[in-house]
Amino acid sequence: MTEEITLAPQAPAASARVGHGDMFTGHMTSSVWSPQDGWRPSELLPLAPIPTHPGTLGMHYAQVVFEGMKAFRQPDGAIAVFRPWENAHRFQRSARRLAMPELPARMFVEAIDQLVAADGHELPAGDDELSLYIRPVMYGSEPNLMLRPSHEYRFLVLAFVAGGFFGDQPGALSVWVSRDHSRAMPGGTGDVKCAANYGPSFVAQQQAAAAGCQQVLWLDSGQRRWVEEMGGMNVFLVRGRGPEAELVTPELTGTLLPGVTRDSLLALGARMGFRVRQERVPIDALLADCASGAITEMFACGTAAVVAPIGRLRDADRQWTIGDGGPGPVTLALRERLVDVQHGRAADPDGWLRPVRLLGAER
Ligand SMILES: *Cc1c(COP(=O)(O)O)cnc(C)c1O
Repeated sequence: MTEEITLAPQAPAASARVGHGDMFTGHMTSSVWSPQDGWRPSELLPLAPIPTHPGTLGMHYAQVVFEGMKAFRQPDGAIAVFRPWENAHRFQRSARRLAMPELPARMFVEAIDQLVAADGHELPAGDDELSLYIRPVMYGSEPNLMLRPSHEYRFLVLAFVAGGFFGDQPGALSVWVSRDHSRAMPGGTGDVKCAANYGPSFVAQQQAAAAGCQQVLWLDSGQRRWVEEMGGMNVFLVRGRGPEAELVTPELTGTLLPGVTRDSLLALGARMGFRVRQERVPIDALLADCASGAITEMFACGTAAVVAPIGRLRDADRQWTIGDGGPGPVTLALRERLVDVQHGRAADPDGWLRPVRLLGAER
């Protein structure tokens, strides 16, 4: 059965040609949960379709949570995963919110080790733009359509070789300020990584694309007054310049996803000497400050996007240019620092990297 499918990549292409989410590696891990046995140990399997009952609960009622993190080549050729324990704990929070059994953090991290050990050799060395993107997912796998939590779950980990999230569009992003759709609501699921947050956001993403933008900026759903985040990344702005520059990101209100990249940049930014602040950001003030030049830079950040400069904001009526519309110096310095830590070229005082020993390293 598995020989017939060609989901695994052919020879890796140059990073410019590698997209996001199509070059899957050769394996996956799989573990199942049942009320009697709890979590069974993760098995390493060839990546292959999983026969699915058409009445699988998770598929109908979106009882699905996921994670995303990356592993990077190190100077010695080893591969290290970036902050997997953070993802493990967020995965537990996501599961709790969706009335799913929590996966022990150690099992989560060890399943990732298992997959990276087997497939890490598929990540080409010598190209900084490439990384191994790791995608854990858990879903209600019981064939039953009662409106209640599933009685069975499956936990999978997949990986793919990732190039730039924004493909070969260089420079700075144009971002659509969504005035008529919402991503998250108070008391909802905006602060966890559940599949149900993403499908409903695609229509705003299409609207953005139709307006020539690559991303959506979400506002709070109640008043449409506060800046929250983007559709899979958090957002930062820079006030002022040089040593006076201040790094600001919207505070976590319960409707934002607390990104590991966001957290990492707050820590690195402070260490680099910037004043860092988490505060509520009103959209009106943001746009006025972009127009006046008080805001000098903006960028998006996330595992997939890393640090992506934002050059323009627009809505149906107007457009605002940030700084000179290109990547700014604070944005680029932060990106370089983060990428250097991830690739083992800068100090890692907090132990963010988890090295994984590859199986049969010289394949
Ligand atoms: C995953 C995600 C982020 C970024 O989180 P990281 O841990 O930095 O990858 C931000 N916002 C949303 C909505 C997300 O799904």
